[in-house]
Amino acid sequence: MYRNRLTPGPVHLLRLPQGSDLVEEIGRFASEQGITAATVSFLGAVQRASLRYYDQSAHQYRDFTIDQPLEVVSGVGNVTLLDGEPFLHVHAAFADDQGRGHGGHVNAGTIVFALEVTVQELEGEAPVRLPDTASGLNLWGGDAR
Ligand code: ZN
Repeated sequence: MYRNRLTPGPVHLLRLPQGSDLVEEIGRFASEQGITAATVSFLGAVQRASLRYYDQSAHQYRDFTIDQPLEVVSGVGNVTLLDGEPFLHVHAAFADDQGRGHGGHVNAGTIVFALEVTVQELEGEAPVRLPDTASGLNLWGGDAR
């Protein structure tokens, strides 16, 4: 098991502009602020969602789009290091006009209608994403965990 003890740092509250790209906007904020470790949460609404599902057997992503207005029921994520740069990883649950759920890993191409974001910085040794053979993903500590 990978373990790393960090300490809460400053908290940033962001309201993203309508029409902005959810992943790109939060990712750019983290990079510009030099944030290398943080937790992220958000709620609001999007005009469309570009999502991704990871096939655990094939070790491949499957991308799909929900091309309609959606509520963001709950969004969670983190910022850690990948290839020496801050990397934003975000998942979210969405609801349509009937309350039906959609969700998954959030890709670029998810367009904001209105979004309130909380970024909680973490101070200490930033986790580094490295290849993990068992999952085929870049995970904290990689195979060396
Ligand atoms: Zn993911």
